[in-house]
Parts: sequence; structure tokens; C-alpha cells
Amino acid sequence: MIYPPRCLVCGGLVESDFGLCGTCWRDTPFIAGLACDLCGVPLPGSSDGIEHCDDCLTTARPWSHGRAALVYRDAGRKLVLALKHGDRQDIVPSAALWMVRAAQPILKPDTLIVPIPLHFYRLLQRRFNQSALLGLAMARQTSLSCCPDALIRTTYTPSLDGKSREERFATLADALSVHPKRAQQLAGRRVLLVDDVMTSGATLAAASEVCLAAGAREVCVTVLARVAKDA
Ligand SMILES: [Zn+2]
Ligand SMILES: [Zn+2]
Repeated sequence: MIYPPRCLVCGGLVESDFGLCGTCWRDTPFIAGLACDLCGVPLPGSSDGIEHCDDCLTTARPWSHGRAALVYRDAGRKLVLALKHGDRQDIVPSAALWMVRAAQPILKPDTLIVPIPLHFYRLLQRRFNQSALLGLAMARQTSLSCCPDALIRTTYTPSLDGKSREERFATLADALSVHPKRAQQLAGRRVLLVDDVMTSGATLAAASEVCLAAGAREVCVTVLARVAKDA
């Protein structure tokens, strides 16, 4: 080791490559216990059955199951923003590990990991697609296959920040399609869509629909962080 391991959030020295110091670990809202089976948001109480949050009861979710590693607040939010805008690729291995743990119940041996694509122009701005990095790292950790270019952006999507839920769904409805050369790989497969953050779920819904239209047997989703309403 040339560099001593540092905390992914505060940069303080840590004893192992585990990723977070004790303080930041406590400040990171890992999702454990009862969670919505479609979006992964934590739910109060406990249950032996499958439960859905109010959002997923009122919004069509074309995918079958979903999991999230973190709630998008505190250090969970800091990690997503650092990964998205800060060129912090060192976050990827730990984030992917947390996502694999969260997704464990919905992973199957024939699952194909499909990251949500960035638009080409935004890829130029940011130089890398954080969802593709997360998907590839999850594939390495699980020995599942990953197809990072299975989906493509067909139209330029302006930033969704500040858009209402209806605007998000309308903007994204036709924004994604299956890469013509990859359609065959999706046919008959269980697809796991991977993204860094889920807000309204509009992007994941659009991606699920094109995968199902290409013949995917089932689509599940996993995100690093889920935006929770009262967070
Ligand atoms: Zn720290
Ligand atoms: Zn939900």
C-alpha cells in the first residue's frame, strides 16, 4: 500500500479499505430492515410479506422488484454527488458492494446487469458514466454479466433538476432505447437496471419498458441511493 486508506466521505484516515470512518458510517443512511419491494425505500414496522410504499402504489412501476443501498440524505447524498460531479471513481468499489448486498434477494444466476446510460454530450462533460462504473463493479463482484451499452439515449434530455414528477415522466418517455446491436442479448433475460439515484423513477420506468419491449423476461432495478420524500 502506497497510500493509506481514507474515508470516502470526509477523507480522514481509516484502518481498513472498508471505506468509511466510524463517524461517517453512522452518518450514512444504509437501508436495512423492511423496505418497499419496488423502490427500496425504508418502511416503518416489520412484515413477512412483500410491501410497497405509497409512491409505488400510485405510480406504475414496469419493473418487478427494486432495491436501494442508501437513502439519499446526509452522507448518502454526499457520496452520490461526489460520484456524479466530483470525478470520485474511488467511491465505486464500496458503493457497488453495498448495492450488491442490497440487491442480493433479487439477483439470479442469469441476471444481466444493464446500467442507465448518460447522454453522449453529458458523457463528454463528465468523462464517465457513474452508473456504468457501478454496474461493471457489481458484475465483477458477483460474476454476473454486464452490458454497459445495452441502452442508448435517443434524445437530449435537459437536466431534470427542479422538474415536477409529471414533467420528468413526460420528458423521459421516449428518451431511451435498446441499442440495435444489443437487443438479442436482452431477449429472454432477467435484466437488472443499475443507476446511481432514484428520484421519481421515471428514468427506470422508461428503461424497463424498452427492455421488456426487446423481450427481457423480467426487469429489476438497483440504485445506490433512493430519494425518500420526508428525508
Ligand atoms: Zn469520514
Ligand atoms: Zn416504493
